[in-house]
Amino acid sequence: MSISQSSSSHIFLTLSRNSLSDNWRSGLRAPPRDDRPQTEDVKAIKGLDFEDMFLRRELLMGIFEAGFEKPSPIQEEAIPVALTRRDILARAKNGTGKTAAFVIPALQHIDVSKSKIQALLLVPTRELALQTSQVCKTLGKHMNTQVMVTTGGTTLKDDILRLSEPVHVLVGTPGRILDLAGKNIADLSECPVFVMDEADKLLSPEFSPVMEQLLSYLPKTRQVMLFSATFPLIVKDFKVRPRLASPP
Ligand code: ADP
Repeated sequence: MSISQSSSSHIFLTLSRNSLSDNWRSGLRAPPRDDRPQTEDVKAIKGLDFEDMFLRRELLMGIFEAGFEKPSPIQEEAIPVALTRRDILARAKNGTGKTAAFVIPALQHIDVSKSKIQALLLVPTRELALQTSQVCKTLGKHMNTQVMVTTGGTTLKDDILRLSEPVHVLVGTPGRILDLAGKNIADLSECPVFVMDEADKLLSPEFSPVMEQLLSYLPKTRQVMLFSATFPLIVKDFKVRPRLASPP
């Protein structure tokens, strides 16, 4: 392990890189490499590696097993900021890796020894909920994170049973989750992370009142992350409003 005494920030970086290099990848199986040509919107531009982001090793193992070698541009931009627990409003085209851009920071902060919902990931459709929960399961595999997906269409009894077991990440559509929170079946009172994927759709007049109500079940200090392929003004308004409404 090489340690430079020249500056404290250098010591930190050197240690962190080296502490991750001791064979943590051996025994992991990455999928076959995808050698298809990549367009600029999915190629890392800053040259950051996931290992530069101070992520837990178990999370890095999941990222590597998913076949992600380098962060995409939206991941390079969003993950380091999200890790500081600041609110985020991110826009990037579909297919550029937005899901992992919020799943990775959400997983990084989860304490699996705590039997509480610690990240709420809202999406507009059942299909997207299933896909998002699969990404959480893949990336969180070595962390032993418990992920639940709920979108309605099943009986509440199934959800009640599932929520009697530990759930760390809750993924779903707004209506069903509001129903669960309103009936005290899902306890969001210690959930510090609130994510909206396809935020433009979730903030359409159809969903917007539900989103507002849902936020009221979370602690005041929650982190709000909005991801969208388009960026209408209602999205910006929503992000600003909870902050303004919070006590000083
Ligand atoms: P979006 O949410 O922006 O539509 P997705 O998150 O669904 O995009 O990602 C699109 C595809 O890119 C998925 O198949 C995902 O597994 C893959 N992907 C995401 N991030 C990376 C990465 N860093 N390296 C390689 N593939 C990635």
